[in-house]
Amino acid sequence: VKEQILYHIQALIFLAKVLNSSHFIDVTCTFFCNFATCLINYTNIFSVETKYIFVTGGVVSSLGKGIISSSLACLLKARGYRATIQKFDPYINIDPGTLNPYEHGECYVTVDGHEADLDLGHYERFTNVPTTRANNVTTGRIYQSVIEKERRGDYLGKTVQIIPHITDEIKRNVMALGKTGNFDFVITEIGGVVGDIESLPFLEAVRQLRWELEDDCVCVHLTYVPYIQAAKELKTKPTQHSVKQLQQLGIQPDVLVLRTEHDIPSTMKKKIAQFCNVSPDAVVQSADAPSIYKVPVLMHRQHLDEIVMRKAGIEPSGEPDMSAWNEFLARMDSATDTVTIGLVGKYVELQDAYKSIDESLFQAATYCGKKVSIRYIHSEKITPGNVASLLEGIDGAVIAPGFGQRGIEGKFVALEWCRTHDLPTFGICLGMQCMVIEFARNVLGLKDANSTEMAPNTPHNVIDLMEEQKSIHNMGGTMRLGAYGCTLRQGSRVASAYGSLDISERHRHRFEFNSDYRTRFEEAGMQCVGENPDTGLVEVVEIPQLRWYIGTQYHPEYSSTVLSPSPLFLDFMKSAIAYKDEKIK
Ligand code: GLN
Repeated sequence: VKEQILYHIQALIFLAKVLNSSHFIDVTCTFFCNFATCLINYTNIFSVETKYIFVTGGVVSSLGKGIISSSLACLLKARGYRATIQKFDPYINIDPGTLNPYEHGECYVTVDGHEADLDLGHYERFTNVPTTRANNVTTGRIYQSVIEKERRGDYLGKTVQIIPHITDEIKRNVMALGKTGNFDFVITEIGGVVGDIESLPFLEAVRQLRWELEDDCVCVHLTYVPYIQAAKELKTKPTQHSVKQLQQLGIQPDVLVLRTEHDIPSTMKKKIAQFCNVSPDAVVQSADAPSIYKVPVLMHRQHLDEIVMRKAGIEPSGEPDMSAWNEFLARMDSATDTVTIGLVGKYVELQDAYKSIDESLFQAATYCGKKVSIRYIHSEKITPGNVASLLEGIDGAVIAPGFGQRGIEGKFVALEWCRTHDLPTFGICLGMQCMVIEFARNVLGLKDANSTEMAPNTPHNVIDLMEEQKSIHNMGGTMRLGAYGCTLRQGSRVASAYGSLDISERHRHRFEFNSDYRTRFEEAGMQCVGENPDTGLVEVVEIPQLRWYIGTQYHPEYSSTVLSPSPLFLDFMKSAIAYKDEKIK
C-alpha cells in the first residue's frame, strides 16, 4: 500500500511537470481520489472489524466453557489483539448476587460493582483485563429491559414477543462490547447446555447474528466424549447428537472442542468432523489438564487460536507471546515444597464457593516458588475443644467472607487461636469483621460484642450496618459494591505489601467497622491502617505486634490474576512461608 501511495505521488510530480495547468487540476482530482482509496485500503488492513466468537456447550454441563473461552482470549491477547469475554446466563435472576453458594458457587464482583458469575473471575485471571457489568447478562436482565421498554411505550403498540423482541435485546447486548470499539474479539459464552429450554432465545439470537455478521462470526461448540470403562472405548455419539441439536436450531458449529479424559485418536476426530459437518482440522480435544492454567498452552498446541482466526478471516502471523505465562507455568512445575493454608468458612465442602481465594492463594504460592495445599476447615465444626487439632500444622489461615449467623462462632474460636499462637492470619470481609469482634470480646473485654448482622440488639455493635444501608429494603444489587479507593497508613504492614499508600480494591458488604470504637481498638493494639479517603470507613485492620494479622473489608482476591497477582496475597504467602521455615528450624 505504501508503494502504491508513493507511486501516485511520483506520478503526480511527473504529470505536473509535463502537463499544462488546466490539465493539472483534473489530474490532481484523480490523484486525490486514488490516494484516498489507497488510504482506505491501508486502514482496513490494520483496523480489524470486531470479530464475534460464540462458545456453546453440549451433552453435559461443567465441561469448562469458561476455561476454553478464557484460554482462547488469553492466546488472542498474546497475539496482540484486544479480546474480551462475556457470559450470557439463561436464568431469571437479574444477577447471581441473590443466589447462595450452594446454587451458584462464588459470586464475583466487577470493578464497576456488578455481582457476576464466577466465570468472569476466570476471564480476568486469564486475560488480565477487568470485566464490567456488560460482560455478564442474564435472561432476567434481558426481560427486565424489554419490559421497561414496553412500559415506556417504545414498541409503539406492537405485541411484544420472544422473537423478535427478546432476541433483539439479546443481540443488542451481544454487540454492546464490540460497539465500544475497544475490542478486536468479543467472545460470548452461552451458559447452559444446548437442548435446554432456557437457552433457546440465546441460540436463536446466535443463529440470526451468524447471518448478520457473516465472516465476522465463529461458533465454537464444546462437547463431551465419554470413555466407557467396561468397553474400553471412547464414544462419539453424544457429540454427534449434540451437534445435530445445534444444527436443528440452525447453527452449524465451525469448531468443535471435545472434552475428554483420554486422548482422542485422529481417526476418531476425522469421523466426528465428517458426521458433524466440520472441517477435520477444526476438531480439537480438551483433555483433563493438571492445572487450568495449562489449558491455553494445550489449546495453542492444537492451533485453536489459529483455527478460530482463520474462520474469522484473519491469517495468523507469528506466534503468540506467552513468555510471561510460560514463566508462571515453569514456576508452578518446578515448585516442590508445600505451604499449607487453612481456609475457615462455612461453604468449604463446595468446590466453587471460594474460587477467587483459592486461585489467589495458588498464584501467590507459585510466585513464591511453592505449592499450596489448602486445608478447608468447616467453621461450624470448630469448638474450643478441637480448634488446636483442626488448625495444627497449618502455616497460615484465611478467614473467609460470608453472610449470616451460621458458623460465625467457630470463626471467633479459630481467630482467638490464630491470634494467640501468632499464626499468619488473613481475614477477608466477614473474616475481617470477625477479627474485630473477637478482639473486642477477648482483648477489650466487651463480652457481647458482635455485628448487628448477627445480633441486632448487641450492646457493643463493633460492626454495624452502614448508614446508607439503613433505608435499603431490596436485597438485589444494593450492597456497597465494586472498587473504592483506600488510603493506607504509612509504615503499616499493608502499605509495605502494596508498596503504595493509595490503592483501590473491590467490595461487597453492608456492614462496617463502627468508628466509635476506633480509639479503644488502637490503644489495645489493633490498628485501623486503611480507610476510605472520602468517608473514613475503616477498610483494613492489623495487629503490628503479630507476625501477619491483617483483615480487609474489601476482597483482594477479585483482582488477583496470573500475570498480576495480588500484592496482599503475595505478602501473606511470604509470611506463611517464613513461619513454616521458622517452625522447621
Ligand atoms: N456479611 C458481611 C456484610 O454484609 C460481610 C460480607 C462479605 O463477607 N462479603 O458486611
